[in-house]
Amino acid sequence: MDHDASDSGSPETTRANRFWAWHPPLPLQRIPVFMWPPNFSAMVRYLLGGTFLGGIIVPFVITAAIVWFWTTPPITRFITVDGSLVIQLWIRNVGLMTLFAGGLHLFFYVARLQGDDRRFDTRDIRINRRFLAGRQLIDNMFWTLASGVTVWTLYETFLFWGIANGYFPGFMNWHEHPVLFVAMFVLIPFFTSMHFYFVHRLLHWPPLYRVAHALHHRNDNLGPWSGLSMHPVEHLIYLSSILVHTVVLSHPLHILFHLHWNTLGAASSHAGFEAIRIRGRNVFALGSFHHQLHHRFFNCNYGNPFMPWDRWLNTDNDGTDESIARMRARTSTSS
Ligand SMILES: [Zn+2]
Ligand SMILES: [Zn+2]
Repeated sequence: MDHDASDSGSPETTRANRFWAWHPPLPLQRIPVFMWPPNFSAMVRYLLGGTFLGGIIVPFVITAAIVWFWTTPPITRFITVDGSLVIQLWIRNVGLMTLFAGGLHLFFYVARLQGDDRRFDTRDIRINRRFLAGRQLIDNMFWTLASGVTVWTLYETFLFWGIANGYFPGFMNWHEHPVLFVAMFVLIPFFTSMHFYFVHRLLHWPPLYRVAHALHHRNDNLGPWSGLSMHPVEHLIYLSSILVHTVVLSHPLHILFHLHWNTLGAASSHAGFEAIRIRGRNVFALGSFHHQLHHRFFNCNYGNPFMPWDRWLNTDNDGTDESIARMRARTSTSS
């Protein structure tokens, strides 16, 4: 669930090319939000640009609105939760994930409508015994739908149940808090960025890695279905950032946006392509080269670029040969 700073880029002739079919300009650009001294005009340009506003806010506010206004029962229906309500939401979320990840997979890997334009790694999605049924795609779809969508649905039901019963501070009223209502959509990706860094480092703690996170890391090359392909324990931990809404005044649209960014957004950030492009221009920002580096080199880039925790805590890999050598040296001295 993360994106790079670059809206576009061109291949550079560095030795890093031996790893990648295409990569953004290296070293990876830093997002101009947590920079010192602050550059406010660059910050505003970034927040209103194609990667942040166009790749995150707009698409997942749209999916949240569609789900809230057209496919969610009235909040009073959540006062008493029963199995039929959970199954109804689960089927809706399976449909949403299938449309989103399946649509991206069809576009890039079946119809190949973009060829290999802006594709990071041109090795095929794997047929390998380590995957369920020996196929990465089947394996990734299984863990995404059977576990990921189930945990997502349970969190969603729990939050709505709490709001319906008045246990949490929600329901934020748009008319009373218009600025905060909009600001929440901007703040959520930054909050989840911090949460992701720390829970991801926890997931690399060897006992937890072996039990849970190793399953996600079998994907060293990525496709849209890889994003949410995780062990149930990892789903519980990864999606736990949603619990912030039990203590922060929120509207159900914020909760749905937060969930969709972490679930559907994982499909886009793992798509394996930088963007959907039309006539040579990026029209929809997708893949995260920053996270693609994590899948390839493992002990780096635990976070995403919205908050530079990797730089602050010395785990950053900016894609250059020097960075890769530094990460490898760390591995050899720690093992
Ligand atoms: Zn990891
Ligand atoms: Zn990943």
